[in-house]
Amino acid sequence: MPRQADTKDEAQLAARREEARRHIRVVGDPVLRERAREVTAFDRDLAKLARRMVRVMHDAPGIGLAAPQVGVLRRLIVYDVSDDPRVVVNPVLSEPSAETEVMEEGCLSVPGVTVPVERPVAVRVQGADLEGRPLDFRAEGLEARVIQHEVDHLDGVLILERTTRSARAAALRQLREQEEGGGPRGPGGGL
Ligand code: ZN
Repeated sequence: MPRQADTKDEAQLAARREEARRHIRVVGDPVLRERAREVTAFDRDLAKLARRMVRVMHDAPGIGLAAPQVGVLRRLIVYDVSDDPRVVVNPVLSEPSAETEVMEEGCLSVPGVTVPVERPVAVRVQGADLEGRPLDFRAEGLEARVIQHEVDHLDGVLILERTTRSARAAALRQLREQEEGGGPRGPGGGL
C-alpha cells in the first residue's frame, strides 16, 4: 500500500526508490502467480532475505512486501504500518471478522494502479518469527489489510483478482497505457 513521501532529500529518495523497484517483480511475471512453499529452515539465509525485503519495502516505498515479489517462492511476508517492521513466516489466516471494508489498494507489483478491495477488518494471524518461534495474534485495521494482501501474494493472488470486474478492466487498461507510455507514472506504491 502506498506510503506518503516525507521531507528527505527528493533526489536521494528517488534513487533509492529506483534501485528498490528493480528488485520487485511486476504483473506479467509468472512468479507472482505461483503458490509459495512453506519455510522449513529458520537459518541465516532466511534472516538475510527478511532484511533485504524490509530494505526494499522501505525504499520502494511500501508498507508490506511478500517474498514472491522479490522472486523468492517462500512463505514469508514483511510489513510496517507503524515504523516498526514486522516479519511473519508461514502465515496462516483464520477467524476473519464478519465486518468487511472496501479500501483502495495499491501494489508494488502492479505499479501505478489502485483498485477497491473488500476485506475483513480483522483477522487472526498465526505463523512464526525468524527464529521459528510461534506467532499468534489478531490484526485489525490497516495491519489486517496489509497482512491479507501479502498472504494473497503467497498464493499467487493479486489485487486484480480481488476487485470488481470493472475496476479490473480499468486497471488492465491503465497498465497497458503505462507500458505503451514507457513505464508507470506517479508514485505507484503498494504492498
Ligand atoms: Zn502487493
